Amino acid sequence: MPAKLSQELIAIGPHNFTVHEIPPQLIEPEYGHINYGALVIHLNASCSPSVKCETLYHEVLHGLLEGGGFSHLLKEAGVNEEALVQSLSMGLVDTLRRSPSLVQRLKYES
Ligand SMILES: [Zn+2]
Repeated sequence: MPAKLSQELIAIGPHNFTVHEIPPQLIEPEYGHINYGALVIHLNASCSPSVKCETLYHEVLHGLLEGGGFSHLLKEAGVNEEALVQSLSMGLVDTLRRSPSLVQRLKYES
């Protein structure tokens, strides 16, 4: 059982995923990992806060694709899910950081 350094919950569809930062020796060479069955996201505790943030978005995108049934469709179509998710997570984090008005809009509910 990995050591738990910090914890938070992220909703992906109907499921709440627990986020754990774990020691690098338990996860390297990866920066993060999502376990759909266990509803857990692991982040490499040795990464910088910026990398951990982008990695969390990365794992959430994997979760959205899996939960929406797209992971197997991408595989069948020969699309590299990892490259797609990496591109989207880098772009999304950069856009959200530089566009606080986008985050502000999320706070309004219709
Ligand atoms: Zn990935």
